[in-house]
Amino acid sequence: MRFPHDTHTHTVYSDGIGTVSDNIAAAEEKGLRVLAITDHSHYLEPKTLNRYVREVRQWAEDSEVVVLAGVEGNITENGVDVPAFMAKKLDFVIASVHEYLETPGQYLELVKIALMDEEVDVIGHFGANFPYTGFPGAEEIGEILELAEANGKAFEISSRYSVPELDFVRECIRRGIKLTLASDAHTPGDVGSVKWSESVFLKAGGKKEDLLFEEFL
Ligand SMILES: [Zn+2]
Ligand SMILES: [Zn+2]
Repeated sequence: MRFPHDTHTHTVYSDGIGTVSDNIAAAEEKGLRVLAITDHSHYLEPKTLNRYVREVRQWAEDSEVVVLAGVEGNITENGVDVPAFMAKKLDFVIASVHEYLETPGQYLELVKIALMDEEVDVIGHFGANFPYTGFPGAEEIGEILELAEANGKAFEISSRYSVPELDFVRECIRRGIKLTLASDAHTPGDVGSVKWSESVFLKAGGKKEDLLFEEFL
């Protein structure tokens, strides 16, 4: 891999089956330079959140891999469920849509909420809903890109869902919108499984400076 990193993995702190140290060990084995632990926000009550961050920081100290403590928040009509006090303890915040929606317009309205939320850094698996809602038009996609560019938000390229599509990634690069490679692993075995992400990134002409965590790569 040219840019060995994985910015989206789950552990037993939410619905993953590996521990924090299992995921880090898998990242070491696969030669990753950067690994993010990003459990689902709704599992992290304040007390658990403190334990979570402490554990990630402790294991990170003993690893050659740069380990980031993040979270994957849920975007709903009422906002992203990552309050400022939670974001402050973390290195970065992913926001994703996890609910069933009927139209691409409904999906994009939710994504816009996250693009305007100052605690959010990265939009998770953008477009994973399109096979169910239908695909939006170029104009609607353009609005999303504009908002992301204006607000300095990044998109992950998700190997789990094979999104976003090549043209979208190309357009991110053209506009200076940062990208990350993400497995969305729920098992240690899947940590670092970002082949699809990297191939799309390279096909789109991506360079190191187009990656959100380029300083660690
Ligand atoms: Zn997700
Ligand atoms: Zn996830």
